[in-house]
Amino acid sequence: AAMRNVRNKRTKTVCTYCGVGCSYDVWTGGAGGDRHILKIEPGEGAANNISTCVKGKFGWDFVNSPDRLTTPLIRENGVFREASWEEALELVGRRFSEIKAEHGPDALSFISSSKCTNEESYLLQKLARAVVGTNNVDNCSRYCQSPATQGLFRTVGYGGDSGSITDIAQSALVMIVGANPAEAHPVLATRVKRAHKLNGQRLIVADLRKHEMARRADIFFRPNPGTDLVWMSAVTKYILDTGNAKMDFIERWVNGLEAYRKSLEPYTLEHASHICGLSIDLLKQVAQEFIDAPSACILWAMGVTQHCGGSDTSTAISNLLLVTGNYMRPGTGAYPLRGHNNVQGASDWGAMPAYFPSYEKVDDPAAKARYEQAWGVKLSSSKGLDNHEMVEAIYEGHLKAMYLVGEDMYKADANANFVGGGFEKLEFFVVEDIFFSATCQYADVVLPASPALEKDGTFTSTERRFQRLYQVMEPLGDSRPDWRIIQDVANRLGANWKYTHPSEIMAEAALLTPLFTGVTYERLEGYKTLQWPVAADGTDTPLLYTEGFAFPDGKARFYPVDWTPPSEALDAEFDLFLNNGRMLEHFHEGNMTYRVPGIDEETPEGFVEVSPELAEARGLQTGQWVHLHSRHGEVKTQVYVTDRVFGDQVFVPLNLREQAVNLLTGTHTDKVTHTPAYKETAVRMKTLPSV
Ligand code: SF4
Repeated sequence: AAMRNVRNKRTKTVCTYCGVGCSYDVWTGGAGGDRHILKIEPGEGAANNISTCVKGKFGWDFVNSPDRLTTPLIRENGVFREASWEEALELVGRRFSEIKAEHGPDALSFISSSKCTNEESYLLQKLARAVVGTNNVDNCSRYCQSPATQGLFRTVGYGGDSGSITDIAQSALVMIVGANPAEAHPVLATRVKRAHKLNGQRLIVADLRKHEMARRADIFFRPNPGTDLVWMSAVTKYILDTGNAKMDFIERWVNGLEAYRKSLEPYTLEHASHICGLSIDLLKQVAQEFIDAPSACILWAMGVTQHCGGSDTSTAISNLLLVTGNYMRPGTGAYPLRGHNNVQGASDWGAMPAYFPSYEKVDDPAAKARYEQAWGVKLSSSKGLDNHEMVEAIYEGHLKAMYLVGEDMYKADANANFVGGGFEKLEFFVVEDIFFSATCQYADVVLPASPALEKDGTFTSTERRFQRLYQVMEPLGDSRPDWRIIQDVANRLGANWKYTHPSEIMAEAALLTPLFTGVTYERLEGYKTLQWPVAADGTDTPLLYTEGFAFPDGKARFYPVDWTPPSEALDAEFDLFLNNGRMLEHFHEGNMTYRVPGIDEETPEGFVEVSPELAEARGLQTGQWVHLHSRHGEVKTQVYVTDRVFGDQVFVPLNLREQAVNLLTGTHTDKVTHTPAYKETAVRMKTLPSV
């Protein structure tokens, strides 16, 4: 009879892992109760249809992990103790108020999470701007995709993918630079694999590692680390010089050709061949692929962006697409592959120091006036601090308090020792998360949040696609959805917010923005989606730029850029180049996937990938323990010999268990956006006795 009472529930959600934005139904219930996940059933998702990857399919049991934070924690005499919400919120409100009264609003800072919903990022920046009075608000896209957004701002206007994943699939030529989509964006990679195999799509891969897409490519090459701008500019120059640029397109749609052409003068094939370690024939071959292709798109990620010249290389990518007329049509365009599920949305919704939601500048008088009227306050028009500047400002003594939502910043930011040292200097530090992350050890108050399955809201995927997630289960223990906690904190600081559901937040927020005006929960019911810009009548925009570019005259802009050599070079002491990135099974620092037993068993150890050449030269074997030292720190891990890496380059996954790859990385950043140059680190390796 008991079996008859068992109820199974089916709820639509959106994947909490990568930016592809797969959506599917979650079945819960059965004998295991309301929190028991029976299965994940894809079917109607706009991005994924019947597919998911291993993380989307099996990666959810972390929600029931015994490690979940279920009650607020307050640090007292160096030790955390459990506290009530009332006590924790009173303390947060009081300390933030005191610090603001003593040092001014700019002594406080706020960081939103790419794991949070759009509504939550909107609220956090509203808390910073309207309640506290500072533009010191940012999000973790600072660590990954800000340079890509910058490259697009400079050239075509919108900081988003030019089209949809279906556009990538129908392109005649796909070039992937510094990205590993088969592991980092698996379902999107499947579309490319299929198009390549079945439709004769051409595939070029430029990467340091011979990963799965590289093995499948028609042309694969390994430029010297940090030289992508050079070969890309040489290819572009060659196309222009040989009269193969799409001049009709340029004359009609792009400004600034002459200055740009002049800026390319140093980028001869000979120069690029020398700097990048590539043959002139190969460069000509790449150019010819672009000349011959009726449509082409370029996909890129951290291999491009996490350099001192990350914004400039992203700009060079867009310049190449403009020269070859590869915008404005299906199958063309620029596709920065967004990392987290809502990295696009966190920036879109204004968790950025210089922008209101939908990328209106904080010093734009019209935008400022609109928000001042809507929020009933006077706003600051001076740009705030980004994540990187916040850490520096702590050391300089200007920044005293931080409210960090859903990010293990100690492990995720570069140079963990520097970041941790900064946290120790904060007068008051609040961390909100679902687990006690490595960052929490520095907090004064830890607030327990609820993951995606425990709340309603919307996410925006890499293809600018809004999708709704529905609450599958109740928040665990005393944990709360971030939007509720942010509202509670705001109200302790004198606001009088009364949101009872995320739909009310979206109803307020969308109408304030030019790009998301027509976004409503009704239009996103179930599996319905909208790709921004969304007009008031609900018309959305799967393909950007069909009627011109996002500048006042409707024309794109060539933007001249110069090469910045990598900030760290190899020398006698630090003789190996450290690369780092994702792996399929685990997500970033592993805080979620380590707590999914099935996934965890597959890859229980961290490792460093070592090339067969290096292994041979140093007598290294898979499984051997080594110390990696950089100029900034050290880690201990195990060797994994593989031909995915080459020569004196080694690769470490982002997740190294209890350690962080960022104990090794330094403080150099992209010149424009301050994204850490994670990919510019020299190390040395010391063999350890077996353990
Ligand atoms: Fe989730 Fe990305 Fe995998 Fe899709 S491809 S299931 S969005 S991790």
